[in-house]
Amino acid sequence: MLNENNYRRHSFSFEVFPPKQSTSFERIKEVTDSLLDLKPDFVSVTYGAGGTAKDNRTVEVCKLIADNGKSKPVAHLTCVGSQKEEIDEILHSLNKIGVNDILALRGDKNPNVTKKGDFEHASDLIYYIKSKMGDKFNVLAACYPAGHNESPSQKQDIINLKKKVDSGVSGLITQMFFDNEEFYRFRDLADIAGIEVPIQAGIMPITNTRQIERIISLSGASMPKELTKLIAKYGQNDNAMFDAGTSFAVEQIVELLSSDISGIHLYTMNNPAVAVRIFNCVKGLLTY
Ligand code: FAD
Repeated sequence: MLNENNYRRHSFSFEVFPPKQSTSFERIKEVTDSLLDLKPDFVSVTYGAGGTAKDNRTVEVCKLIADNGKSKPVAHLTCVGSQKEEIDEILHSLNKIGVNDILALRGDKNPNVTKKGDFEHASDLIYYIKSKMGDKFNVLAACYPAGHNESPSQKQDIINLKKKVDSGVSGLITQMFFDNEEFYRFRDLADIAGIEVPIQAGIMPITNTRQIERIISLSGASMPKELTKLIAKYGQNDNAMFDAGTSFAVEQIVELLSSDISGIHLYTMNNPAVAVRIFNCVKGLLTY
């Protein structure tokens, strides 16, 4: 379907996470409304790994986004420890509310949970969705510029990524990275491996130091010295770190857009102020 963003050469999208069961829905509605006013190409909604459809509010948040009408939701779906029946239940709920786009993931393995599921890798989930539902769902998947942390080598990770793409993926979104060179090296390797689907660059603005340790250990991304320097100087002051972190992300995005990337996926951490500032700085570049 054509929308007014189709003139863009590069897509721009956001990630949000759903509130906990006990938390009110008002805040996430404010967050998604602010993001949707920017008319992103899509807003993706994370899904708790190892949970059930009932624990997860992903479908509810996707419905909020779909009902708003200014953009479309992409539902994350993890499969680690899941049975086919649980996946069927979620696919059915998504289909019922008209959500057609899924980011299919394995999810992180939890060493304390031994529940055996029907799916070993994200590629099994993708193959399952595609063979069961045909073209009802457009499926995206994750990729890792620094290599996935369980992979013995980046080469092996790219070989596995190629299998994943071949199981029915139309586009990839990267894990966050802070050094564009790391992304370009990965993109070249993916190209050599014959991976031809668009790759969206995942950008995480660092706006408070409480995020940093967790982010680095989760993503395995390398930290350029320019960013380390900003954190050392401004990290103790939230206002200063907000300015420094958003400026760093803007520079990173401007440079990526000038290097012909498919699009930017911004990890918003449910903070629309960060997304609005960054989007306003780069929106004029999305058509070039
Ligand atoms: P896979 O593609 O299955 O890869 C996992 C590992 O297995 C890799 O090392 C890979 O090389 C290897 N592998 C893959 N296929 C094969 C194969 N056929 N044979 C042998 N080895 C193989 N987590 C959540 O819980 N919820 C979310 O909403 C969420 N959203 C995310 C969004 C993005 C954009 C990204 C980048 C990550 C997200 N994650 C999320 C984290 C993700 O679940 C973890 O990184 C997880 O450890 C791997 O998921 P995957 O889908 O990449 O797995």
